[in-house]
Parts: sequence; C-alpha cells; structure tokens
Amino acid sequence: LKPISKIAAGVQASTTLAIDSLFKQMKAEGKDVVGFGAGEPDFPTPEHIKQAGIEAIENNQTKYTPAAGLMDLRKAACYRLKEDCGLDYEPTQIVVASGAKHSVYIALMTLCNPGDEVVIAAPYWVSYSEMVKQAGAIPVIVAATEEADFKITAEQLDAAITDKTKVFMLNSPSNPTGMVYTKAELEAIAEVCCRHNIYVIADEIYCNLVYDNNEFVSFASLGEDVKERTILVNGVSKSYAMTGWRIGYSASNPQLAKVMANYLSHSTSAPSTISQQAAITALTGPQEDMQVMKQAFEQRRDHLVERMNQIEGVSCIKPEGAFYVMMNMKGFLGKTMYGKVIESAEDFAQLFLEKGLVATVPCTAFAAPGFVRWSYATSLTEIDKGLDRLEAFIKNA
Ligand code: PLP
Repeated sequence: LKPISKIAAGVQASTTLAIDSLFKQMKAEGKDVVGFGAGEPDFPTPEHIKQAGIEAIENNQTKYTPAAGLMDLRKAACYRLKEDCGLDYEPTQIVVASGAKHSVYIALMTLCNPGDEVVIAAPYWVSYSEMVKQAGAIPVIVAATEEADFKITAEQLDAAITDKTKVFMLNSPSNPTGMVYTKAELEAIAEVCCRHNIYVIADEIYCNLVYDNNEFVSFASLGEDVKERTILVNGVSKSYAMTGWRIGYSASNPQLAKVMANYLSHSTSAPSTISQQAAITALTGPQEDMQVMKQAFEQRRDHLVERMNQIEGVSCIKPEGAFYVMMNMKGFLGKTMYGKVIESAEDFAQLFLEKGLVATVPCTAFAAPGFVRWSYATSLTEIDKGLDRLEAFIKNA
C-alpha cells in the first residue's frame, strides 16, 4: 500500500490516553479508583435544557439545518456574547460547529496555509498543537513558568513572531492552568498582534468560570482592530454541563464566517439539530444553574488548593478560573518511589494510579513537565478521598 497522508501520520495519539485506559480498566475490574482526569462538569445538563432537546424530537425538529447553524441559535449566541462580554455581533458572524474544539479546528483550517506558524502559549491544551499540525501549519510554543502564573508576556509573544506567523492561540481562562489574563495583559498582547498583523483565535470556553468576583475580559472587546482579527470561540459544553451535546460556536468578521460555513457545509453539514435546539434554550433561558455550578467549583477549588499545599512534597498555585489545578511534583523527579525511579510526570501519574488508585493527567504533553493536572469537576467527597490517598501514596513510597 502507498504511504498515508504525512499530515495525518504526524498527528500524535493523546499521551494521556494510556493513563485514561488504565483508569477505565481498573474501574471495570471493580477497583475503587478516584478520577480527576475528566475535563467536564460532573453535573447533569440542567432540566430545562434537556426538556428543550426532548421537545425538539417530539416536534420533529430532526432535519438538516443551514451549515452555519439555525438562525435562532446564531441570534442566541449574539445575545449571550452581548450579555456576558458586552460584544456586538450580527448573527451572520456566528458559525455553529460540533463543539468548541471543532470551532478551533475550522478556524485554523480557514486561516492557515501549509508552513504558516501558529504561536501557542504554554502550558496549553494538548489539542491545539495537533490541530495546528492537521492544518499543515507549524506550532511555535512560547512557555510560561509557574512563577509567571503560567501566563506569557507581550514581550515573549513579540519575540516569537516571524514573517511566517499567522495566528496566536489564546486561551483564558486556561486549560490546563486555570489562569486568567487581566485586561492590561490582554491589551499588551493585542497591541503586539495588531502591530504584526496576525490573527488571534481566542478560546473563551471557560468565560463563565472566573472566580473571586474577578471580571472576565473578552479579547475581542479590546477595540475594533482587535475584534476584526479575532476568531472568538465559545460553546455550551462547560458553562451548561453539555459536553456530550457537541455544540460550539465562533464569532468573527463576516468574510471569515462565510468561509468557515462553506468549510462546514462540505464536512459535517451542521451539528445535530436536536442539540442546536437545546443550545438555544441554554443560551437564552435562565442562567441560575450555571451560577450554582460555578459556586460549587469555586468552593472545591479553595478546598483542593488549601489541602494540596499542606501535603509535603507537592504544591500548587491558586487557579483563577476553569476547573483545573496544576500540581507541582518536581520534588519527586529523580527520586525512587515504590522501587521505580520517577523520571517524568507520566511516571508519577502512572504510579499514583497503580498504587494510590487516583487518576490524574500528567502535563508533559501540555508543555509543562513536572506538573500533574487535577480536574476539580468532581464532588468535595471525592476531592478529599483523592487528597487522603495522595498523602498516603507519598508517605508510603
Ligand atoms: N477548549 C478548551 C480549552 C477545552 O479545555 C475544551 C475541552 O476540554 C474545549 C475547547 C472543547 O470544548 P467542546 O467540548 O465544546 O468541544
């Protein structure tokens, strides 16, 4: 057989998959494992949203929709972007896709030529670099340290830009760090992007999960020139506990929106009509359920961070949004635990699962070696169980 596509062959399998499959296998074997790997709210989808999905089926709203999504959903996204971010978009600027991940993918396919460079601030969500490669472009990683609150500076971005740079990937609040860029930091980044005439994909999927009464600042709100070059990505997965419904959307200038819709029309056609109907209700209906979930996440974060920092050998900084904590485990690198030399975050996470019965995500693939990500989208009881086991795991090593 002839060789397959070089681009497809270059896409990495998820390195976290090995731990995830071990976790699932152990669970299936009836072992009492605790999971902190999942990047999804543990809450069910709110009742009124589920009902909207059921009604869509009963009302026979089960046919194709336009490629860019139902006009009512595009209007609903405009309404939500105005309410939450103070942004003015026309429905024709909104393109609905099968999840925010898909929106990022379509945005990259729309913007990138082979050989273009896409700057990604690290630690970053692992799919970004792989999606950039799928678009034939080259990921350029700019790393932020824990001391810098896992945020890159405008100067770092400036230094990474070449004449091949096409896009900067921004994710605030961030997965995996939970960090949120301030307005002043975003303004400095925006100045660099405008000066170098590059596009920005602003993944704002966690925009509603910002804690301590801090304000969320949408990148596109920083001025007309910024908005023109920004593809804003958002969706219903994290804010409304709707990960399985697969609805995301982008907001961009009308020309880009048109090309993205064309792209979708020849690939997925459009996301499920039933999910689109439910998403309209999520975006325009009562928002109280989201506030309840947010308060729960904030309480869990406070508890997890406080207890984790009392455990000898590990530490974490307090994330400001999303639902992830980066546990620093560098102190164990090179040490022997349970007869095994810990050479990486993978080694630690693997052993912690095997011996401690707790699943976490090693952050090497997120360009953050020496860190293990905990998702606190799980109950306080489970969080305490996980931390008790961490203490024992370290003590008995
Ligand atoms: N963007 C970021 C930063 C994420 O962490 C995730 C999910 O983990 C997504 C996008 C994907 O969202 P969706 O489920 O809507 O595709």
